Amino acid sequence: MGSLSVAYPIDLHTHSLRSDGALSPGDLVRRAAARAVRVLSLADHDTLAGVAEAVAAGEVLGVRVIPASELNTESEWGDAHVLGYFIDPTDVVLEERLRWLRENRGRRIELMIAKLSQLGYPVSLQRVLEIAQGGALGRPHLAEALLEKGYVRSYDEAFDKILAKDSPAYVARVGLTPLEAVELVRTHAGVPSLAHPGTVVGLEALLPKMVAAGLAGIEAYYGEHSPEMTERCLALARTHHLVPTGGSDFHGRGEHGIDLGAVFVPPETIEMLDSRRTQA
Ligand code: AMP
Ligand code: FE
Ligand code: FE
Ligand code: ZN
Repeated sequence: MGSLSVAYPIDLHTHSLRSDGALSPGDLVRRAAARAVRVLSLADHDTLAGVAEAVAAGEVLGVRVIPASELNTESEWGDAHVLGYFIDPTDVVLEERLRWLRENRGRRIELMIAKLSQLGYPVSLQRVLEIAQGGALGRPHLAEALLEKGYVRSYDEAFDKILAKDSPAYVARVGLTPLEAVELVRTHAGVPSLAHPGTVVGLEALLPKMVAAGLAGIEAYYGEHSPEMTERCLALARTHHLVPTGGSDFHGRGEHGIDLGAVFVPPETIEMLDSRRTQA
C-alpha cells in the first residue's frame, strides 16, 4: 500500500454570485475557511469574474483557490458539464469565448421569460437581473423569481414543475458541445474534468470521445453519488487514466443540503491535477 496523505476538506466545485451562486466570491471563501477547507475551486458558469476576489480572500485565510469555470454544453449527451481547472482570468481570447457563452445565456433567459409569461407565470427581466446581481444568468435566477412571486413553494419545485429540460418553459442552450468544451479548456492550458457524470446520457460512449479530445478528470466524488456511482467513476478513471476529482457543487440557494467541503476528496487529487497541467 502506498503512503496516504492525511485528509483535509477539499472542494473543487463551487459557485458564487458571479454566476448562479448566492454568495460573493469573498464570502464563499470565508465560509469555506470556516469549514476548514484548504483547497477550493471557484467554478462559476462561463465566467472567471470572481477569481481575483476569491484568490485575494484565500490569501488572507490560507485557502488555496484554484481558478476554474464550469461549461454547460448542449448536445444529445444530456447534461455534460465540463469543469476547466487552472484557466487564466487574464486570457483575453478565452474571455472572448466566455463572453459569447454569457451573452447566449442572457438571450436564453429572455426567451424563457417570454415563455413563462405565456404559461401564466409572468416575471420581469428587470427583477431577474436584480436577483442575478450582475452574475452570468441562469435558470436558478428564474427559480428565485418564481419562488418570490409565489408560483412555487420551493426552489426545487420551480425546477421540477417549470424549468426542467422536459417542461414547457424550457429553451435549449446555444453553446458548446462536450468535445468543444474540452478543447476550449485544453487550448487555454486548462485541465478539463467531467462534472457530475451521472447527468450524462450515454456516459460510457461519450467518455472515450472526451478523453480523445483531452479530458483529464472525472468528478467521482459528488454529493448526489451513491457509493456504487463513485466506484463506477473511479473505475472509469482507472480505465481512461483520468484524475478522480470532486466537490460539493455548492450554490448556497438551498438547492441541496451539501455544504462547502462536505464531499470527501482525497488530497492526492490535488497533486494529480497539478501534474496534469504540465502534460497539456
Ligand atoms: P442553466 O445553466 O441556466 O441551464 O441552469 C443550470 C443550473 O441550474 C445548474 O448549474 C444548477 O445550478 C441548477 N439546476 C439544474 N437543475 C436543477 C434542479 N433540478 N434543481 C435545482 N437546481 C438545478
Ligand atoms: Fe449552477
Ligand atoms: Fe453542473
Ligand atoms: Zn456546478
